[in-house]
Amino acid sequence: MITNFLKRLEFQGFKSFANKTILDFPSRLTAIVGPNGSGKSNIMDAFRWVLGEREAKQLRGEKLENLIFAGTPKKSASSVARVSLYFDNRKGNFPVDREEAVLSRRVDRSGVSQFFWNDQETRLKDLVPALAKSRLGSRGLMMINQGESDIFVKTNPQERRMFIEEILGLREYRLKKNQAERQLEQSGLNLEKAKAIVAELMPHLRLLRRQKTRWEKRAQLEAELRGFENGFFAGRYWGIQKETANLDKSIAEIDNELAERSKAVKKLEEDIAQLGTPEDGRGETGLIRKEVRELLGKRSLMEKELGRLEVKMEIAKVEKTSIEPVKLMAAIEEIKNDLEKLLGWDDVQKIKQTLKQWLERLKILLNPKESKEKEEDFAGRQNSIRAEINKIEECLEILNKKEEEILAKQEEANKKFRRLIEEIEAKKQVRRDTEQKKERFIFEKEKLELRLKELEHQFQTFDRNIAELRQLKSEDSRPPENWEAAEKRMLRLRGELAAIGEIDPALAKEVEETEKRYQFLTKEIKDLEKASADLKAMIKDLEAKIHSDFQKAFHVINEEFNKFFRLMFGGGRAHLKIVVPKQKEEEKDEKETLAGVEIELNIPRKKIKSLEMLSGGEKSLVSIAALFALISVSPPPFLVLDEIDATLDEANARCFAQLVKEFSQKTQFIIITHNRATMEAAEILYGVTMGDDGVSKVLSLKLE
Ligand code: ATP
Repeated sequence: MITNFLKRLEFQGFKSFANKTILDFPSRLTAIVGPNGSGKSNIMDAFRWVLGEREAKQLRGEKLENLIFAGTPKKSASSVARVSLYFDNRKGNFPVDREEAVLSRRVDRSGVSQFFWNDQETRLKDLVPALAKSRLGSRGLMMINQGESDIFVKTNPQERRMFIEEILGLREYRLKKNQAERQLEQSGLNLEKAKAIVAELMPHLRLLRRQKTRWEKRAQLEAELRGFENGFFAGRYWGIQKETANLDKSIAEIDNELAERSKAVKKLEEDIAQLGTPEDGRGETGLIRKEVRELLGKRSLMEKELGRLEVKMEIAKVEKTSIEPVKLMAAIEEIKNDLEKLLGWDDVQKIKQTLKQWLERLKILLNPKESKEKEEDFAGRQNSIRAEINKIEECLEILNKKEEEILAKQEEANKKFRRLIEEIEAKKQVRRDTEQKKERFIFEKEKLELRLKELEHQFQTFDRNIAELRQLKSEDSRPPENWEAAEKRMLRLRGELAAIGEIDPALAKEVEETEKRYQFLTKEIKDLEKASADLKAMIKDLEAKIHSDFQKAFHVINEEFNKFFRLMFGGGRAHLKIVVPKQKEEEKDEKETLAGVEIELNIPRKKIKSLEMLSGGEKSLVSIAALFALISVSPPPFLVLDEIDATLDEANARCFAQLVKEFSQKTQFIIITHNRATMEAAEILYGVTMGDDGVSKVLSLKLE
């Protein structure tokens, strides 16, 4: 059993169908009947509308709003119109994951129109190709309006070709091709636009690129100069550093040497200090001499004392009688002399002793009796003085010996001292020489510091930061063979840089941006060219497919057409012919002109020169013959035909009904009709009525 592709039509609020109305299509051939104005054609409109029709004219309404039930005195207006078509989707024809696909469309009074696949909203843009794939559309031969039964004859050759393509299922490819052509056109426009922008951009870009090249040269020169400068300055800087380091090393060595020398000098000084200052008579010998002098003084005093004792003894002898004035005078003279001497003495003891002796003498002189008594004491005293003198003599001898020894020793020490002094002088001289050497090094170092300062100054005059100088690596140093030539080279490079000028950041940004824009545009051009080429290839493929499928079917269609024509006209001949319309010269390059389809007829007993000469009924018959020819070659899923049998005479109406019945095996028919024969052929009959309330109703009529 053949399953029906179209299962149900459901609508509410659509035109005269205010209430929810359902038309099931369980059979292959459904006829819809009813009185004039009851709303039958509104059913056809519902089909067209839900299948995506946009033109109000095609739906017999001026505005979209007119599709919604407008209301009657007895029934208030609807706010929304909704139509749904139910399809068998077991083959997965539609983008719905269900066995039954429901396509709905709704519109409200604000004019918002929406499409749904099983309540999932979809866009018309996506809907049309999906329907085309299943050979569904809102126009063409599959949906023929009332009064348009002759549409195939009336229409122009191109439109006729479209009708054929649609029935053959080529609309899907045609739509794709049209879309590709639109895209190609858009790509072409975009390409032209991009090329025009690039052409406009180029002169400025060339200018900017030249500038960029100069800046790149600048960067290169800068790098060269920088390298050169770095080498030059690193060479000088590290040369100075090396020399300084060498000097520091030498100075350090000299410092060590000096420390050594000073140590040696100090050691000698210590030796000398230990040796002590050589004897100068004030030391030990001085004491001995002082002692000797004292002993000599003592001895002389003793000797004098002896002398005085002798004198006293003499005087004592004389004084035994009287005091002679001469002696007294002599004694006074002597006292006077002694007193004068006494004044020069320091030794109080001696002075006292001398004074005591004189007191004794004076007593004796003044008292001869006493002196007589002491004569014996004088002798004893003389002896003790002599003994003392002897002792002094001995002491003097010892002291002289001792002095001699000391002097000998002293001489020895002096010799050593002199030797040490000479040695120390020599060492000091060496140290002085070393110090001088160090000073020379320090002077050299100062000279290097001056050179470094000069170098730093020069570095700064090259617009470089001193810190950079210190960071220059010694490996970078490239001491030129000729420093003067190197300086000249650096100056020349600077001159070249100055001639190029500074980089203008705004211009640099512009270069970058313009270059980016250029890259973007050239990429876009490339992409567009590629896209255009792809589209052209795709268009070519699609055209080839359409052409080959069309050509393949066309021959058979022609045969069938002739067959049905002869059947309906009782003879004659009908023929479809592909015609390429003459293209205007200026249009030739634009688009390929679609070949149309002409009808050539030969009606029995009539000489027909043009289709215009046919009667209304004849036109319908030719159209219907073509329709059946097409259906026989490529049956569409279903057909909705609104009174296409209206103009046929009884015999032809019967023939039509018979053909419809036969073809209902191949395709599903929904036919609005007043024709009895058609009604009789139908398996299901729906009656449409409109009551006093102005609302259409559908009744299912039992045929029996
Ligand atoms: P005929 O057999 O003469 O062709 P028909 O059955 O095809 O008639 P239709 O043309 O389908 O009739 O229906 C026309 C009717 O629908 C008219 O009475 C018209 O007033 C009504 N109608 C159309 N649009 C609306 C609307 N928006 N609201 C209410 N009624 C409407």
